[in-house]
Amino acid sequence: MPINPRYSKLFEPLEIGPVTTPNRFYQVPHCTGMGYSLPETLTAMRSIKAEGGWGVVCTEYASIHPSSDDTPFPSCTWWDNGDVSTMSVVADAIHEHGALAGTQLWHGGLYAANKGTRELPFAPTGGPIAYLNPLHAIEMSKSDIKDLRRWQIDAAKRAKTAGFDIIYVYAGHAYLPFQFITPRFNQRRDEYGGSLENRVRLFREMIEDTKDAVGDRCAVAVRFAVHEFQVDGGLSSDAEGREVVEMLADLPDLWDVNISDYRSDSGSSRFFAEGSQEQYTEFVKSVTNKPVVGVGRYTSPDTMVSAIERGVLDLIGAARPSIADPFLPNKIANGQEDDIRECIGCNICRATFKASTPIRCTQNPTMGEEFRRGWHPEQVPQKSSDHTVLIVGAGPAGLECATTLGARGYTVTLAEATNEPGGHIGTAAKLPGLAAWARVRDYRISKILQMPDVTLYKNSPMTADNVLEFDSDTILIATGSRWRNDGVGRFNRSPIHGCYGPGVLRPEEVLSNSEIQGPVVIFDDEHYYMAGALAELLIGQGHSVTLCTTAPEPCVWTQWTDEHHLLIPHLYNLGINIIVSHNLLSFNGSSAELKFLYSSETISVDCNTLIPVTARKPNDSIYFELLKKLEGSDESAAPTITRIGDCLAPGLTADAVYSGHKFARELGIDSTMRPLKRERIIMSSPPLD
Ligand code: ADP
Ligand code: SF4
Repeated sequence: MPINPRYSKLFEPLEIGPVTTPNRFYQVPHCTGMGYSLPETLTAMRSIKAEGGWGVVCTEYASIHPSSDDTPFPSCTWWDNGDVSTMSVVADAIHEHGALAGTQLWHGGLYAANKGTRELPFAPTGGPIAYLNPLHAIEMSKSDIKDLRRWQIDAAKRAKTAGFDIIYVYAGHAYLPFQFITPRFNQRRDEYGGSLENRVRLFREMIEDTKDAVGDRCAVAVRFAVHEFQVDGGLSSDAEGREVVEMLADLPDLWDVNISDYRSDSGSSRFFAEGSQEQYTEFVKSVTNKPVVGVGRYTSPDTMVSAIERGVLDLIGAARPSIADPFLPNKIANGQEDDIRECIGCNICRATFKASTPIRCTQNPTMGEEFRRGWHPEQVPQKSSDHTVLIVGAGPAGLECATTLGARGYTVTLAEATNEPGGHIGTAAKLPGLAAWARVRDYRISKILQMPDVTLYKNSPMTADNVLEFDSDTILIATGSRWRNDGVGRFNRSPIHGCYGPGVLRPEEVLSNSEIQGPVVIFDDEHYYMAGALAELLIGQGHSVTLCTTAPEPCVWTQWTDEHHLLIPHLYNLGINIIVSHNLLSFNGSSAELKFLYSSETISVDCNTLIPVTARKPNDSIYFELLKKLEGSDESAAPTITRIGDCLAPGLTADAVYSGHKFARELGIDSTMRPLKRERIIMSSPPLD
């Protein structure tokens, strides 16, 4: 299909210093959990982004010196010439698809604990490093500053030799040049401290140095956080954040502007809407003649065009939208904008990076699998037989499986018990702040509706007999899971007294129950979003709500998704009574008995409704019934029966989607023929005996 003329602006080339980007889609640097430790994985992933049409594809933060080491999180590195050969492979792969390659040179200062290298961290002013770690950073001497400038120059030259087109000076996310700029971290009395001009000196010098070193062929970009979100005494976009941009206005070739820290820059959809950074970054274009790129979880081409037309941005920056759909630009170019797999803002990508694993994505199950499994986000192998497939259950696992099997050319029937496909994601999307999660369901349903060989039947609860009557060759049970109502979970491995009588509601029953009797106690032994979201829902309905958790803080797993720091004050501000580090001992219909974890002290809380959020049970009865019914039948004629998603092992939505995708992609393919590829460390000398 031709491009919608409304979006043609997004495909205009733009000069960035000495280089030209073919379009306005700019994949800003983002963490991957790959970096120096998985360079082939990284290359394959970045290459797919370039193939998908991003005009600029950047690497993640790339350390300029061992004194900036984020172990156990693998950044890229520009420490020595050995990095040139590795990183040139990344640049070449990006260039192969006509995109520009960028790299974000990084020194973390007091935000680098150097656990791997054991170098001492640097800071403008000495003191404890930023992370919870009993280590101090040393105050940089003038000669340290000279060294730092040399490291930046050396790294920039290496990046240029490796073929990169855009080379960053990085003063975002509270890293070292930024630490010089903010008085929070800089109390120096020399020419690098005091006045704003002095505090900006290092940043200015690093930009000038980098331009002198590589500016003849490479664009020198800066990444600068113009605003620190909810930081007492932080930089503000209407004060010094703006003044810094005014002072340096046309010095860099490109302004990549955002807010700090990470948790707000990649804020979840629960707290940040699409384009929400514009309120902080919109001034930038009015004070510089250089191109400006900014982020804001842009997934709608209309919003992107509007940001350019309103003069807020020249280039649409994206990290998560490019993770959820590496082919977003090409889809717009081909008039297929309705096929964009929109990021839902769940931040599972952040959670997986923070666990030091390659990033995973709820929406895009191929993310991080490009190299080791050879998965492409838009291409699947054609079917290998004329087998028919029946999938029972249209939650994320069933929907993804049907979509991928349909793309392979299989004939698929998808039977859903209820009137609303989507399973648990449909329920979650009705909870406060989580509406964007419905995109997991909506994207897949819209794909299925375009597939003539995939049929979705709603209101079709299947029994084992119904399934067999269907006479399909392959049967997938994707019937999901249900929350337990007996209190069994991580902390309590056997049922809690009173936790199964009247007044006990399972989380999924809350939305459909209009007769809830307060006060309500939510007992959280799961620690992700559910307990907090239910508490918010119920207090919004006028109930008195107590959230009791076995953890030391409510919804503690949301630390991984960068939501916790905002979620906790949010829950307190709503007036929810929060009781931490307590276990539920019993419930008698009118009160819950809670015990402090670190003493024998107990308290009683009045409640007429108890909602345990503890663990889930697979809905696997059909699966076992089917196995029983087929016992003794001719194996060669019997259908294959497999469980996928939560029906097999309850987990994150990302796990359910992955499970459905993996099955669909591998159906009929001998997986022993495609062993998981691994990256091998090449030893520089033979091992000793
Ligand atoms: P997953 O995350 O693994 O996709 P969900 O719990 O989100 O699991 O979704 C499971 C879906 O299966 C739900 O939409 C549910 O209504 C449906 N389902 C459960 N049992 C049956 C059944 N017997 N027949 C048809 N659909 C079913
Ligand atoms: Fe977006 Fe979630 Fe995927 Fe991250 S994991 S890119 S937030 S959909």
